[in-house]
Order: sequence, then C-alpha cells, then structure tokens
Amino acid sequence: TGPDLFQPERRNSMGFDLAHQPTLDAIDTARGPFARHTWQAGPILAGTASPQDPAPVTNPADPADSPGTVAYASPADVNTALDAAKPWDAPASDRAKVLNRVADLYEENYGELFAIIHREAGKSVLDAVAELREAVDFLRYYAANAPEGQPVGTFTCISPWNFPLAIFTGQISAALAAGNAVLSKPAEQTPIISHLAIQLMHKAGVPQSALQLLPGAGEVGAQLTSDARVDGVAFTGSTETALKIRAAMAENLAPGAPLIAETGGLNAMIVDSTALPEQAVQAIVESAFQSAGQRCSALRCLYVQEDIATPFIEMLTGAMDALNIGLPWNLSTDVGPVIDQQAHKGIDDHIQQARADGRLIHELNTPNAGTYVAPTLIRVTGIGDLEREIFGPVLHLATYRANELDKVIDAINATGYGLTFGLQTRIDDRVQYVTDRIHAGNMYVNRNQIGAIVGSQPFGGEGLSGTGPKAGGPHYLARFTRHAAPQDGT
Ligand code: GLU
Repeated sequence: TGPDLFQPERRNSMGFDLAHQPTLDAIDTARGPFARHTWQAGPILAGTASPQDPAPVTNPADPADSPGTVAYASPADVNTALDAAKPWDAPASDRAKVLNRVADLYEENYGELFAIIHREAGKSVLDAVAELREAVDFLRYYAANAPEGQPVGTFTCISPWNFPLAIFTGQISAALAAGNAVLSKPAEQTPIISHLAIQLMHKAGVPQSALQLLPGAGEVGAQLTSDARVDGVAFTGSTETALKIRAAMAENLAPGAPLIAETGGLNAMIVDSTALPEQAVQAIVESAFQSAGQRCSALRCLYVQEDIATPFIEMLTGAMDALNIGLPWNLSTDVGPVIDQQAHKGIDDHIQQARADGRLIHELNTPNAGTYVAPTLIRVTGIGDLEREIFGPVLHLATYRANELDKVIDAINATGYGLTFGLQTRIDDRVQYVTDRIHAGNMYVNRNQIGAIVGSQPFGGEGLSGTGPKAGGPHYLARFTRHAAPQDGT
C-alpha cells in the first residue's frame, strides 16, 4: 500500500488571491527590484566548471530586454558532474526537512522568481502564481512521503520551459526525496530560473554532490541519457524526444534503468447539448488559452454537439474577444507570448495553412513586438485532422450529431495520446459512459482541464502521452527507489 493520498495534515500552498488589492500591491513591491535586473546563469557543479561562452537569454515578450546570460555546460562539465555525483546519504526525515526549507525559501523569494518567470518564460502573473504554488506543493508533498528505501542512484532530470519552476522542481524534489543524486538539465530557453532555484536548494542544505545543474541544449541531454554512470531518467517534453531517450538508455544504461516520461497530448473536450454554456465557455477559454496554450494539458480539439453549435460558437468567440493579450508583467494580461521564434513559426505556419484552407473561425490581434500568437479558433472535421500537437493558443473545433458520441470517442482514442480530456454535460449516465471508454490520464467533468493539483489530482497520461507513474500522486516516488515499484501507471 502506498502513502495515503489525501493526508489531511499536509496542506497545499494557498497561492495568492489576485482579487485582493493589498496582495497585488505586495506582488508589485516584491518583484519591483527585478524589473531591470540581469542574471548570469551557468553550470553549478560539485567540481570546477569550464562552460561555453555566455550567450544572451531572450525575453519572448520584448526583444529589447534581456534578462541576462547563460553559459551552457560543456561536454567536460557533464563528465565532471557524472564523476562527482553522490546519492544523498541522509535519513529520509532529514531530506524532508531540507526540502520543506526549500519550499519556504521559494516562498520568501517569490518576487525574484516571478520576475524571472515573466521575463525569461513570458508567463503571466496568474501563471507565475500557479508555478510557485505547484513547485511548493511538489516539495512539501514529496518531503511528506520521503521514502527510507534505497535510492536508484544518479538520476538525470530533464525539464521543459513551459513549467520552468514547477515541473523542474517536481522532478528534482522527487528524486532527492528518495535520496538520489540529481543531474538537472533544464530547458535551454529557461536557464535563469533553474539557476536561482538550484542556488536556493543548496542554501536550504541539499549537498552539492547530490544536486548539480547542467544548462544546455539537446547535446547535454543526449550525453546525460547515454552514459552508463546514469541510473535513471525523469523527462518531461515532447514524445519524439522521449522516444530518443528511451532508445539511448536501452543501448547505454543498465537494463531496467527507469525512465519516467511525461510527454505530449492531443487533448479533447466534448460539449453536449445539455451543458451549461457559460460554464463550458469559461472552461474552454481557460483550457485552450491560459499560459498561451503552452501546457501539455491544454485543450486542442473541442467537439460541440451540432444542435447548440451556432449560439455556442458565438458565445465562445465573444469570450475570446474579451481576452487581454499583453506583457506578462501586467496584471491585466490573460495571454502572453509563446516561448520563442521557432515556436512562433511552427504555430503560425499552422494558422496560415488553416487560413489558406478557409478554416479560420476567429482570431484576435497581437502586439507588434515579441513572439505573440493571437488566440485562434480553427474549424476541423475531427481530431484526426490534427497531424501534430500545436503547442500554442490555437483551438480546433468540430461539431458532432447526437448519435455520433461513440464515433467521437473512437476518434479521440485513435490519436494514440491520452493525457487530459474534458466533458461538459448534465447527464450523469453520460459521464459514466464516457469515463468507461475514453483513454486519458486526467479526465475533468464540467470544469477546465488544466492545472492539476499536487496530491489530489495526480497528473500524467497513457499511450504516447507518457509512461506514468503520475506526478504529484502516491506512486511517483516509488519509481525513484530500488524496491519493486508499481507498474500500473496510476
Ligand atoms: N500539470 C499541468 C496541468 O495540469 C500541465 C503540465 C505540462 O504542461 O507539462 O495543467
């Protein structure tokens, strides 16, 4: 039996109440000093680093601003880190104390963390609050469940830019709670936030040899997943990269070395004719456009029952018009930029194609500077039209007839992904019917389908969406220890 999922004695972070003016003032005061600050990021090793020359880090919202520089780790740095890595030899209760201290330090330093999240990752105030909350929740949840068993050894943790604090911290804190040595390779776009976070972890008492930072691009990740000194890998990112990592591990690591991968999704929502339209529209707008659609949980394909489609689409496009697209730092901003030029181009090509095909239903305007993509609604005949995950604020819409529910479910399952799924209905039996048939790690009914909460909504998918076990759930830590871990992916 695993630890109790709900643990009444452990509380999630309260976050910030953004409807409370004194809280907003406090946020402004805390991040104020970092509005123009520049940071220097680079490897943090238990040994001497000889990194590459520093390069500027970009601000996706503002090409005139640079939050600082990063010196990527060299191949020699990766070698140094691999040699110096040592599991964290301390009782589980001591590791837990240190991880709880990290959570406290994150909360104390939220102003600087928010400023970096805005300027380096282009994420809004609402997103920054969500990042901090989730990061703190991961730290405290894994601390509360820190296992006594034997660690796997040295874990490579490769994290994405879309949750540069939360997912980064989630992987590392799980590996550390179980006593592993961690080699962290954050996304190349977001080195600064990870640099500060690792400094705070060391300040809290995590030993240098148990936690080293190796910022860099794909080459660093490749080196860190194909060296026999590595015993396990935690990865969040694209399905394509996860498959490469699996192949590299099979060739170079000890047989059975664990890979915990959280990957992409082609997430759908079904809105039937009994759904509450206001509730459904709000859930859709949040699920598709919050974080500029750059969540792997985000809604990509909406199915609306034909009988209600015309008024429903009108309401949805009206709600899209009310979205504020702007600078991440501004409190009024709902949708910020996408992460970089390359992401922008990939999404924009997709929108241009839809425009050329006459399938654009609605689109908004964007600011001139920065890598902004306007929230866009595109007509499709079904989810099968989506050839790939479009990782941005683009929603696809299909309609279906009352007697086509099974066909819709089959089409969603046929994508091979299975991450999040949303259902809007007021028919109880239909909830059960769809739940029994849909392939998805996280299903949400009559609400949005993003923002899983640590400890109460373990997050992760099936099929092409990931290996499990789910992050923030009772089975996750077991995969970071040597005793037989549950393989059911729950
Ligand atoms: N856990 C996040 C959510 O529920 C998504 C994580 C991701 O985008 O990788 O929205």
